[in-house]
Amino acid sequence: MKILALSDEVVDVVYSPQVKERFADVDFVVGCGDLPFYYLEFVVTALAKPVFYVHGNHDRPSQYLSDGRLIQTAEGCLPIEDQTCGAPDERKGPLLLAGLGGSLRYNDNPMHQYSQIEMHRRALALAPQLLLNRVQRGRYLDILLCHAPPRGIHDLPDRAHTGIDAFLDFMRRYRPRFLLHGHSHVYRNDTVTATRYYDTQVLNVYPYRVIDFDRVYV
Ligand SMILES: [Zn+2]
Repeated sequence: MKILALSDEVVDVVYSPQVKERFADVDFVVGCGDLPFYYLEFVVTALAKPVFYVHGNHDRPSQYLSDGRLIQTAEGCLPIEDQTCGAPDERKGPLLLAGLGGSLRYNDNPMHQYSQIEMHRRALALAPQLLLNRVQRGRYLDILLCHAPPRGIHDLPDRAHTGIDAFLDFMRRYRPRFLLHGHSHVYRNDTVTATRYYDTQVLNVYPYRVIDFDRVYV
């Protein structure tokens, strides 16, 4: 099971006529925020695989496409903000995803910014769906899709890039196999982008990363 994860930046290796050949073995795609809708729409059309996404702090409520249309969601893609859903896996039944996008609040822009307490509330609001997963599938979830990282893991000292406390609780409680995030841009080869926290592998996917669901990264 291969997942193409995207975040924060349009990259030529994906936004390319060769995307289908390069990522032929990918089963589905996730967007970790701060990505233009045209990019997600390109990927869903070119790869013809499901695309799930959450929002980043720079995402606006609506975006113009090159043909002048104003759109509120990336067409053909599934926003999973504050929701759980299943990504198709023919062998083992669906992979269980949940989405908690956005970042810590750092200015007056109301979009996709939250206090630490608001993030705790959002995580708590997912509990009934996660419990249902546990009853029906034997586990709470497989992948938590985020924009910001957890507090103290791949985060940065400034307020906008401080990580989220609630994600630490979330991982201790629900034990997803992966937490995928972006938001922390990576400019150096020696930057840590994979960290284990309890049973969860926290991966910074900026600006793109192919993830083998069955591989142990860290
Ligand atoms: Zn961001």
